[in-house]
Amino acid sequence: MIMQSFQPPRRILMGPGPSDVSPRVLAAMARPTIGHLDPEFQSLMEEIKGALQRLFNAPDHACVPLPAPGTAGMEAAIMNLLEPGDRAVIAVNGAFGGRMADMAGRAGATVVTVDHDWGQPVDVKRVEAALAEAPTKVLAFVHAETSTGARSDAGPLCALARKYGALSVVDTVTSLGGIAVDVAGWDADVVYSGTQKCLSAPPGLSPIALSKRAQEAIRNRKEKVRNWLLDFNLLMSYWGGPDGSGGGGRTYHHTAPINALYGLHESLVVLFEEGQQAAIVRHAKMHQALAAGLEAAGLKLLVDEAHRLPQLNAVVVPDGVDEAGVRNHVLKNWDLELGAGLGPLKGKVWRIGLMGASATPWHVRLCLTALCEALA
Ligand code: PLP
Repeated sequence: MIMQSFQPPRRILMGPGPSDVSPRVLAAMARPTIGHLDPEFQSLMEEIKGALQRLFNAPDHACVPLPAPGTAGMEAAIMNLLEPGDRAVIAVNGAFGGRMADMAGRAGATVVTVDHDWGQPVDVKRVEAALAEAPTKVLAFVHAETSTGARSDAGPLCALARKYGALSVVDTVTSLGGIAVDVAGWDADVVYSGTQKCLSAPPGLSPIALSKRAQEAIRNRKEKVRNWLLDFNLLMSYWGGPDGSGGGGRTYHHTAPINALYGLHESLVVLFEEGQQAAIVRHAKMHQALAAGLEAAGLKLLVDEAHRLPQLNAVVVPDGVDEAGVRNHVLKNWDLELGAGLGPLKGKVWRIGLMGASATPWHVRLCLTALCEALA
């Protein structure tokens, strides 16, 4: 077989992620690969650590990008904090809370899930009732549930973790860059994200922030972390220690995905040029425009207005409409990717992403035009 270069079709990405990657980020990734122990690359690693502290608003946390997608951040948080027999309370209000609960079980923890109907935000009172039942090591929840488009209130949930002596784990894969993520203000312990949503870099890296409490808990584990690549005790020596001191103490752990880190770096340059607050306002405005257009077209959003994520809009498929047929139509005729429903929402919603570079007036207009044409 003669292989030929792969030429991807031109697509407009308005599903649940990945989002459109800006040409600047793609160009940065095409720059020459240098060695991961090259002093110039180590300077880049230092700059990325500082930029992630700024991005998460986590000046006192250790922040690094893990060399794998968002699920790696989840796995790192769960596997580093939990040991067999620990109790974990996990709020499940969609697919990703469910994934965290599965992982916590695999870590040997006693898992207590607080289950919600899909589309609802996490209920702080019900979580408190679960925490009050027994000493708990970890409280985990998803800030922005991509499977439904619901936003949960991270501050009060992290405060509950503090109150009951648990460590908080917050999934911000879809929130980071699109709505406010305030790790210091929440006093959160382990917060992870992904690059392919509101940061508009390609998938494959998972920025993560760890509090001093979390770092201490990991140092004091009874047994080794069962996952070698994501063991923070090993990983942090590669990233130059949690205090950002860098140089001197760095030891080989794995080979960093060098060009992917160029891409993350450029995406942060782009974001800081716009301003984090300005990007949040842009996401909110694009959501308002999309929601107004959908309403005018007689379509309804799944989530109540008070808990809606601007960057992920789950649209209820009207009775009698072929959900997959519409998605296929807009892909074929408009090169536009929309997302399908997951789990209990399969066939019942479309998921429209307005994330990062895909949150522009042009994207909103294109999506409304294409959807209305497909439904006509
Ligand atoms: N958590 C949330 C809320 C997500 O939306 C996703 C991906 O869509 C993940 C975790 C997993 O991220 P990845 O697919 O990059 O592994």
